[in-house]
Amino acid sequence: MNGPQTKKITRFLCAASLAGLFGSACGIRPETLKNGQPGTELPHCTNQKGEAVRYAAIPGAELQARHNAYIAAADRDRSGRPVIYYDRDIFPGLPRTFRKFVMKHECGHHKAGDVDAPTYEVMFTLMDRELAADCHAIQNLRDTEGFGLRETQEISEAAASIMRDRMIPESIVERRADNLFRCLRPAGPP
Ligand SMILES: [Zn+2]
Repeated sequence: MNGPQTKKITRFLCAASLAGLFGSACGIRPETLKNGQPGTELPHCTNQKGEAVRYAAIPGAELQARHNAYIAAADRDRSGRPVIYYDRDIFPGLPRTFRKFVMKHECGHHKAGDVDAPTYEVMFTLMDRELAADCHAIQNLRDTEGFGLRETQEISEAAASIMRDRMIPESIVERRADNLFRCLRPAGPP
């Protein structure tokens, strides 16, 4: 299921649906790269198999061309090791809360096994995977760093701004924001 035609279709869907926005399992193509850039938050992350995930800072153009993603992407490298690539130019200048969120979001893709899911499966569940990774990220930051409404608002605004710059439809921007605030609420009876 990984022929050139399938890949082409997946890339189109990714581009069309926002999907690639914070990275995703879209456009999977392994490669070797440098280690993560110092000075940014790079939390310890393991995937669904318990493998340690490494970080690699790469040029934004490469992130878009090879991973069909902006800001960051979860993937496996040429050697098959799980990795989170991120835009070395843009990422350091983003708000701190948003940087943390993006890395937890990508780690969420690794934890959910999205990176290893068959291409055809990813095609049909793209939006759900993005929403699930967002949910994982905000709940993790709520539970480990005490992120609340203020931080979630900041993250939501940064995300919306980037999505609008990329001409993502407003319905998707709103759906993602709604999902974020819904996930922030503690589980249990209302
Ligand atoms: Zn994603």
